[in-house]
Amino acid sequence: MRIAGACRLLCLACPLLKGVMLAKRKPTQDEAARPDGKTEEQWRTELTPEQYEVLRRAGTEAPFTGEYVYNKDSGMYRCAGCGADLFGSDTKFESGTGWPSFTEPAIAEAVELRPDNSLLMRRTEVLCRACGGHLGHVFDDGPGPTGQRYCINSAALDFAPQPDSTDSK
Ligand code: FE
Repeated sequence: MRIAGACRLLCLACPLLKGVMLAKRKPTQDEAARPDGKTEEQWRTELTPEQYEVLRRAGTEAPFTGEYVYNKDSGMYRCAGCGADLFGSDTKFESGTGWPSFTEPAIAEAVELRPDNSLLMRRTEVLCRACGGHLGHVFDDGPGPTGQRYCINSAALDFAPQPDSTDSK
């Protein structure tokens, strides 16, 4: 119920926040020095505009618009920037928020967590450890034993279906 309430608030605020949430953030020195060694120009060339906005500029896609919000197929959600395995479909759950939601990463080391106090909120940003791409945020109102909700942008993900999966949407 708390999630539903929070979602409603988020959805109501979304049209107002959308412009702000897409506010540009300059990559930090740390990000610029990531081992991937790519320049922002290279990222801009390799990614779609939407992927670039989310992964490299910490943007947030509008809720209920992402490709994977309702995806229930079995498989692995990889980083759209570098291909690293990030979230397994077995940890995906329906949060009602409009963004793909997971209880935990496939491998804890695959993601990096960082405090994010932008937009007058105290949140925890989730990044791909391998390439430094912004994925979304993690909140403490998730279900199950972890109690966590990894709220991830579809644009930051690339879904790889399980080869022998017979699931359908
Ligand atoms: Fe990555």
